[in-house]
Amino acid sequence: MTPSELVPFVDLQAQHRSLRADIDRAISRVISESSFILGPEVEAFEREFATYLGADNAVGLSSGTDAIHLALKAMGIGPGDEVIVPAFTFIATASGVSMSGATPVFADIDRTTFLLSPADTARRVTSRTRAIVPVHLYGQALDLAPFQELARRHDLRLIEDACQAHGARVGDRKVGTLGDVGCFSFYPSKNLGALGDGGLAVAADPGVAGRIRQLSHHGQATKNVHSVLGYTNRLDGLQAAILRAKLPHLDAWNAGRRAAAARYTQELEKLDVVVPRSAMDADHVFHVYAIRCARRDQLLERFAKLGIQAAVHYPTPVHRQPAYAHLAGSESLPESERAAAEVVSLPMFAEITAAQQARVVDAIRAHLD
Ligand SMILES: *Cc1c(COP(=O)(O)O)cnc(C)c1O
Repeated sequence: MTPSELVPFVDLQAQHRSLRADIDRAISRVISESSFILGPEVEAFEREFATYLGADNAVGLSSGTDAIHLALKAMGIGPGDEVIVPAFTFIATASGVSMSGATPVFADIDRTTFLLSPADTARRVTSRTRAIVPVHLYGQALDLAPFQELARRHDLRLIEDACQAHGARVGDRKVGTLGDVGCFSFYPSKNLGALGDGGLAVAADPGVAGRIRQLSHHGQATKNVHSVLGYTNRLDGLQAAILRAKLPHLDAWNAGRRAAAARYTQELEKLDVVVPRSAMDADHVFHVYAIRCARRDQLLERFAKLGIQAAVHYPTPVHRQPAYAHLAGSESLPESERAAAEVVSLPMFAEITAAQQARVVDAIRAHLD
């Protein structure tokens, strides 16, 4: 098979080809400044990303998982506390909670949107519950209103996992700015990706942002004074400079993803598959375009034979992961389990061509015949 026949799942080369000169300049700047950890590039990126979101307090971090961990820790949540997370998400939503010492409690999702179910979340609130981590899964904004109501009633904190949803909006607000803390990842394949690991937290309360910053930097209060025990969870200068070169393109890339999603939906609606449907008028940024399809694993085999790189997000719900066997026991979360068995993520990136998408649609049509 020649490379031109492959339909990649994500094509980072396409993005980097057009930005190569800007990225090279950003890297040279950091080398000339020798500002490898924290420093001016990190400060500038924090400001620019906060402005992009319409947020006040942004803290660059080493990953999205660390953002979730430190957000909880900064709000005093830890051992003995329960934090509700969706069972159908990337495991890091839950492992970030576990890193804080708190116990993740798994809740089920809504069948139509794949997003955390407010009703199932409410059922799982106990006297130990301190926070909820709703996930804007696949880049689709989750309506936080019912969770805000639940949080008010039970005095809970809301930590948004926006690691797949850079730029997604609810009305005129960007996700990540709706709860107490919003957590972002810049893993290379995210809608805004670094050339390595990176993350960021935005906090509504500057005090919380300050504690996240302190925890990420050895617990340092002022030079040589460490008032709490902290970690090594900073964003590095090279990644910040690279992210600054990329951020101005994020909206155009998200628009490219939305256009590609519209092309998929237009063709797939005619077939017997379930296409993404959003529960409200929210701006989806299509980190993942996932359909439900009968005989999913056979479809994956067909894709593989044709050189179409599809994926599954996620084949195992988090409560069924071996690492969480001690917590979930035999509990059933039927919508999460059903989604894990039925979803397929189609190739999706801003530069995908209509011809590449037509090959994906043809393969699905042949599978259903
Ligand atoms: C990527 C991702 C994370 C973790 O981000 P890292 O930067 O890899 O630690 C957390 N939650 C979700 C939903 C993600 O997709």
